[in-house]
Amino acid sequence: MASAAASPSQTCPMEKHLTCSICMDTFQDPVTTDCGHSFCKKCLSLNFNYTDRVCPLCKKPQNRLPDVNIVLRDIEAGSGERGGRPQKGAGNRDHSFQGDHL
Ligand SMILES: [Zn+2]
Ligand SMILES: [Zn+2]
Repeated sequence: MASAAASPSQTCPMEKHLTCSICMDTFQDPVTTDCGHSFCKKCLSLNFNYTDRVCPLCKKPQNRLPDVNIVLRDIEAGSGERGGRPQKGAGNRDHSFQGDHL
């Protein structure tokens, strides 16, 4: 048995993939560009307003604002639940229960 590669056991390797390079916070409505970089939809659209439509990281021209990456969004939603990082006003859940607990 040749066990070549020891797998690095990091605590939370996903975390850095869930951080927007523009606002340095976890994604809100994460979008992924054609070049594979991810940002908040809000941050990227703001960036598109101020500059040409290029990726803020690698300056690759973008045709349009990408759609929300639902995979990233789900991952971030899952990590947020146990992470305890306060969500800032992203009320995009379908069923908005106005809490009736006491
Ligand atoms: Zn952002
Ligand atoms: Zn890029």
